[in-house]
Amino acid sequence: MEQKGHLHPLSILINDITQVGVSLGFDVIDGPELEEEKYNFDMLNIPSWHPARDMWDTFWVKTLADKGRRVMRTHTSSVQPRYMESHTPPFAVLVPGKVFRYEPTDATHEAQFHQIEGFMVGKDVSVATMKSFFAKFFSGLFKKEIKVRMRPSYFPFVEPGVEIDMSCFKCEGSGCGTCKFGGWIEIMGAGMIHPKVLEVCGINPQEWQGFAFGGGIDRIAMMKYGIDDVRLLYNGDVRVSAQF
Ligand SMILES: [Zn+2]
Repeated sequence: MEQKGHLHPLSILINDITQVGVSLGFDVIDGPELEEEKYNFDMLNIPSWHPARDMWDTFWVKTLADKGRRVMRTHTSSVQPRYMESHTPPFAVLVPGKVFRYEPTDATHEAQFHQIEGFMVGKDVSVATMKSFFAKFFSGLFKKEIKVRMRPSYFPFVEPGVEIDMSCFKCEGSGCGTCKFGGWIEIMGAGMIHPKVLEVCGINPQEWQGFAFGGGIDRIAMMKYGIDDVRLLYNGDVRVSAQF
């Protein structure tokens, strides 16, 4: 029997994310997966002595002496300083891509996975702008009205930092297996871009503010498509992708 090719569920989701982002005025860009240490860490307010470096189990890559240390990027956040140091605000950017962590593989962890990073910098970008962006973004992505709430959190490159929860897209808040019967789903980390990060990229924090966020695309795909083991997304079995 003739077999037709089919988009992988991660590709479908990345296309959807891109489409919603573009409709909200974001540019979609890419960055290198083998990254300079300064973009992955230092310029994001994570110097080599900073205890927050322990938050990411890192693949260090042996490199040429004149190029400095390199890593397989641990997050798509590395594209943030890379972009900001060579562009003048205002701008709004989305970066979907692969990231790498030095950790064992199980049903919810892969050493390579996908993240979506986004950031917006402008003269009057505030926490309110960020919250309303997320409500529009997730409503567009899940094609229904989604509510958003924020909880305080910590990431070195934002201040204040928050966890973004969205109302459950399956049960709309009444409680189900997807939201572990809480009605809310923890979906992304976010916050207002730390003034030090803007400064090191040559952007005056007195003049410009911005928000940034990052989250796991694989986790969203697993929830959206009801996949219970992340390894199914990477084993190349066409019986998985053929279902979507
Ligand atoms: Zn639910």
